[in-house]
Amino acid sequence: MTADAVRVPTRAEVPASDTWDLTTLFETDATWEAAFVVWQGEVDRFAQCRGRLGESPAVLLEFLRFETDFERQGDRLGTFAFLKETEDLANSAYQGMKARYLGIAARAGEASSFSRPELLALPPDALARTLADPALAEYKLLLERVVRYRPYTLSDKEERLLALQLESAQTAREVFGQLTNADMKFGTIVFEGRTLELSHATYASCLEKPDRELRKAAFHTYYAEFADHANTLATTLSGSVKQDVYNAKVRNYGSAREAALFPDQVPLGVYDNLIAAVRANLPAVHKYYGIRQRAMNLPELHFYDTYVPILTEFRKVTPWDDAVELVLESLRPLGEEYTETLAAGLRGRWCDRYENKGKRSGAFSSGCYDSDPFILMNYKPDVLDDVFTLTHEAGHSLHTHSSKRQPYQYANYTIFVAEVASTFNEQLLAKTLMERATSDRERAYYLNKEIDGMRATIVRQTMFAEFEKIIHEQAEANEPLTLESLRQTYRSLLETYLGPGMTLDDEQSLECLRIPHFYGAFYVYKYATGLAAAIALSQKVLNGGPADLAAYLNFLRSGSSQDPLDLLRDAGVDLATPEPVDAALKHFGKLVDELDGLLA
Ligand SMILES: [Zn+2]
Repeated sequence: MTADAVRVPTRAEVPASDTWDLTTLFETDATWEAAFVVWQGEVDRFAQCRGRLGESPAVLLEFLRFETDFERQGDRLGTFAFLKETEDLANSAYQGMKARYLGIAARAGEASSFSRPELLALPPDALARTLADPALAEYKLLLERVVRYRPYTLSDKEERLLALQLESAQTAREVFGQLTNADMKFGTIVFEGRTLELSHATYASCLEKPDRELRKAAFHTYYAEFADHANTLATTLSGSVKQDVYNAKVRNYGSAREAALFPDQVPLGVYDNLIAAVRANLPAVHKYYGIRQRAMNLPELHFYDTYVPILTEFRKVTPWDDAVELVLESLRPLGEEYTETLAAGLRGRWCDRYENKGKRSGAFSSGCYDSDPFILMNYKPDVLDDVFTLTHEAGHSLHTHSSKRQPYQYANYTIFVAEVASTFNEQLLAKTLMERATSDRERAYYLNKEIDGMRATIVRQTMFAEFEKIIHEQAEANEPLTLESLRQTYRSLLETYLGPGMTLDDEQSLECLRIPHFYGAFYVYKYATGLAAAIALSQKVLNGGPADLAAYLNFLRSGSSQDPLDLLRDAGVDLATPEPVDAALKHFGKLVDELDGLLA
């Protein structure tokens, strides 16, 4: 059955049992409207506390309680509008609903914006007394998280100047976005007799195709366009780096990297440990490339040979109900409470399961303090990756659900820990599939998938992280960032991370000019630490005792009640040491050895 032989249903044709049940949030659109009008009317109440937060702990408490209630109700309204819109993006009624929600949320943001500067302006002794007041105990950490920015906050006049240039400071990033998404045209290549227009998405999918000539053509055609714009792209990247350096300098941070790591309270050592641990384990990565080259029977291994599965995919059909059973079975090590909660949600109405006309593509987990942790999927029974996506999103959903044990203000977890719960579940699914494989070939297929996932998330993102570190340090040392210097830095990292067995095409170093994440620097390392922590924790839960499991489940219930590194340390991984990343990569090495044996 080909994709276009299946007619995609309209939203109205989808049986209710296959959809999420948003009536648990608001019974009807009319009840949403009524609640929205009340909420909207509350915005003006923020003004009553303006200029008064330092008056007494009682006034501050009144403000914080009001703000918490206001945000909590806003989350309910926003979640409903946002999820409704994704059901059918062509339905303008819900676009309007979302726009109205966002309008009031923005107004509320402005109306309450006095609170931060007012708190930061309190004299240190008055602030210390306020924070120690037992009446404010439930908000103490929240307040500390505001006032910890004090050393990096400038005078009112200086803050105003910085605020006025916020928009123009985005120019480098915006030029990059417009150039690479709108203006650059990547040309065409021929695939299966058809002429295919190359884009970022089609380039990525071409790299996964078994046809080597296609991969090679896609690679060279794609990068030819980057070569044509290399000078402009080097200038925007250098401009973005200089802006990062400027922002950090004017706010008295030690470096741009220090400024970026500050919100998560992550010391530079964590970042450096990650790079050191990955570098120490690169021989296993290089060995894997050698295995890949032999198994694919290639005279030379190029970058465009590294994304296609070594073995052709197994045609495996997993209907929804079977996928749910498989996911639940794989998660049994997490105990009954976890699997029963998830079973009720997935067999019930947490998940909007299948594609319909106009539905948002991809998958996500989303919800709020007063809703179920809903999941959007476009589940296809013949796509194995979709089973992984399901357990990934289920991991987010159980994390969200469990964190409701915290009071509202500490229930939302940060990005730094978010991908731990999701990729932990993927680890368990991979293990179950490998155990159940009925042939060496099938097992090798899963191993290869697992290895490539770790390589892309831990090794490659760490190489990006090291590149960001080097070019920011160069800018901080007033060394010019030129097209030549950027390419040279990147090429030397490629040589190190890809190893001597890889044949590097000259264009490969242009890759450093096309990564959107470099315009929000020092973010990608979190992908690597997140997966490394998830692997280390899953190994602990699988091989350890009840205390290891209890620590992990407690982590899922913790929301943001501590800073990320403290939460993870209590869960059983200390990212201040190289050990978790090292353990994850030792696991990688074992998988590589096993794959080698199976393919030999
Ligand atoms: Zn995720």
